[in-house]
Amino acid sequence: MNKARDRCGLKGCSEPAEYVVELDGRLYMLCRGHFRALLKALEGLASSRGEASLRELSPEVLLSLKPVKVGGRRKQQ
Ligand SMILES: [Zn+2]
Repeated sequence: MNKARDRCGLKGCSEPAEYVVELDGRLYMLCRGHFRALLKALEGLASSRGEASLRELSPEVLLSLKPVKVGGRRKQQ
């Protein structure tokens, strides 16, 4: 039997989970890249409405997020 380590709960992602987000009464384990993607999604909501909270994100949105690459030292442009 495998001992399950905490992995990112999003489909197709095998990064280690570093964040736990509660959404719709459930807990989702997220890796850093997906957590960043979540923050970006919230920023998008916030900029169109002036405010946003995690509650406005649906699990479907969460599960469709693509991870943001983290830790690049190169400046883009
Ligand atoms: Zn992930």
